[in-house]
Amino acid sequence: MSFITVKNLSFKYPSGTENVLNDISLKVEKGEKLAIIGQNGAGKTTFVKMLNGLLKAEKGEVIVDGWNTKDFSVAKMSKKVGYVFQNPMDQIFHNNVFDEIAFGAKKLKYSKEKLDSLVEKAMKLTKLSEFKKENPYNLPYSMRKFVTIASIIAMDCDVVIMDEPTAGQDYFGMQVLHNLIEGLNKEGKTVITITHDMEFVVNNFDRIVVMTNGKIIADGDKRDIFWDLEILKKAMLKQPNISDLAREINLNKNILSIEEFVE
Ligand code: ADP
Repeated sequence: MSFITVKNLSFKYPSGTENVLNDISLKVEKGEKLAIIGQNGAGKTTFVKMLNGLLKAEKGEVIVDGWNTKDFSVAKMSKKVGYVFQNPMDQIFHNNVFDEIAFGAKKLKYSKEKLDSLVEKAMKLTKLSEFKKENPYNLPYSMRKFVTIASIIAMDCDVVIMDEPTAGQDYFGMQVLHNLIEGLNKEGKTVITITHDMEFVVNNFDRIVVMTNGKIIADGDKRDIFWDLEILKKAMLKQPNISDLAREINLNKNILSIEEFVE
């Protein structure tokens, strides 16, 4: 079994009339870097909330490291899967950065030393160390977003899920994001992101899952998905900047080699 195994998952909100997720199956291994892309309303946020049990499967199953999310509370699942909300205001409750970042990790009952070192490490990765006594509400949006990312990193979960982390980030913020994704990945963590920023995907992720209308319509290497114009059109997605793609993707694939040309 894969580290994350999603089997025939369907979901409908209590207030809704139609399924928001339709028969989704997916396998993700430890240490993968995965981007979930697709138009607004495709079901991306709903889907990732099911990976840590914030929403529970109605039909089908979500199993993480042998744990079926149906059988565990969100608090328990958070040891395995951390989810960073799209809007930082949905996730900030304390009046200083250190306490905010330590909040989730405290619930996991680490020793004081371990907790402090996890929070320090998370602040270092998100470039927040010098702001640890600030009130998060006094920080700009982009830094508040990093506070929420740090609070999930500090929990030391196996899987870190970020929902639109590039929103409001400038070039510095994008570099911080890049370095922290690399850092987490080097530790063997799985990093999953939802994003509309295709350049961010090219620069940071290997595997892409494309969603439309509550279904996964493509799942594969970015070197394949971003050349598949049919898929991109179907999901109404922009192809990334060609020079970014060229750096990442073997252009020869779509160009006749000299030998083929001569034949
Ligand atoms: P995405 O993240 O791809 O934009 P969402 O998962 O947020 O998609 O939303 C998928 C669909 O579910 C949308 O049609 C949205 O309006 C609906 N939806 C999202 N949250 C709720 C909710 N709490 N109650 C009812 N419908 C919802």
